[in-house]
Amino acid sequence: MEILLRRRAADFFKMLTKSLADFAKPKNEIYSDKDVCNVDHQLTYTLSLAQKQASDLSRFTAAWARLLRRVYGMDKYAAIRNLPFDVVASVLGVSLEHFKRDNRKKEWVGPCPIHGSQNNKSCFRYNDDGRFNCFSQGCKGRGSLDLAMAVKQIGFQAAVELLGSVPPPTTKKEPVEAPIASDGVLQPLAKDTWRKFAVPCAWLEKRIPDAGIRERYGVFCYNNPARRSAYSGRVMLPVKDVHGSLFGYLGRSIDHAHNSDTKEEAPKYLFPKNLPKSRFLFGSAEIVAGTFGQAPLKRVYLVESPFCVMKFAMYGLPALSPFGWSVSQEQLELLAQLSKGIVYLPDRNKYSQGAETAAALAARLWLRFPPLPDGCEDPENLTAEQVRNL
Ligand SMILES: [Zn+2]
Repeated sequence: MEILLRRRAADFFKMLTKSLADFAKPKNEIYSDKDVCNVDHQLTYTLSLAQKQASDLSRFTAAWARLLRRVYGMDKYAAIRNLPFDVVASVLGVSLEHFKRDNRKKEWVGPCPIHGSQNNKSCFRYNDDGRFNCFSQGCKGRGSLDLAMAVKQIGFQAAVELLGSVPPPTTKKEPVEAPIASDGVLQPLAKDTWRKFAVPCAWLEKRIPDAGIRERYGVFCYNNPARRSAYSGRVMLPVKDVHGSLFGYLGRSIDHAHNSDTKEEAPKYLFPKNLPKSRFLFGSAEIVAGTFGQAPLKRVYLVESPFCVMKFAMYGLPALSPFGWSVSQEQLELLAQLSKGIVYLPDRNKYSQGAETAAALAARLWLRFPPLPDGCEDPENLTAEQVRNL
């Protein structure tokens, strides 16, 4: 889907640059991202337009630039653009005294800070998605940088400097919950609302360089600027049952190492509320699907992290992760269905605690619990040869 969108966006953009001069849009209509994303529709629409207006042209190209930035994940100013209005207002010296919050529409409503309306105290609206406009004088734009440029009459770089040092707010984020049916039974997600906001991620590509493996296990980096989600900017690790049904995502922070000494550190892993990870094994769906041969397999590597599972898959070796080092009774049952033998490889710092798990595994399956080679803390760093020699 994403590739298709990119190809269409690229084709369409080529067409667009050719016919830019011919483009126009009727008055009083604003292109939303949704409009722009609907590429087929937009193509037909553009071709049918006859009027010519320079301002509409620039608005349209700005919308396209936004779409391309999102599709290609290239907006390095996204964090600044997405600063909430109340935070930006205080930096710009805009008083919130006459502003009201419309929670239903997720907007701030008040006098226009751009043209400085005196009488009209509600002509200006700033939506949480960044879009703002004033119906009195037609002042409009999107995101805090546009707003700063318009209010302060400054250029783009000056706006970046002005807002660049503002820390992003630590307000409560949207909770993520696993759907539960009325009878209390855990349900798979009806719809994956995350995957379509996959963005390129150097961190993930470095850690799991094989794109085919990332695709097979369904991992990606999520970023939807329109939603203030706790999962934004995280690497999404699907939580699937053995049949491949998706129940949710585990979100791995990718800048964890950099802020490890700050007090209000974001958690390294985010797990949806209500989703008992003890019922799932990362990699189980891929084994049942026959990726490594017919299950039960002869032996499977049991490792702590999903990333290690994917690394081993790059070597052609089947591995499973219980999303941590401990193994629940339910996960033990699953393991026994998927494999006859287990090579248990927790990270080095969990080797002593792992003894109990190893005993529980050994009671059910053939087990090897080999030491990691000297100097290796995490089995993810082993070479294919080292793993085979364990
Ligand atoms: Zn205005």
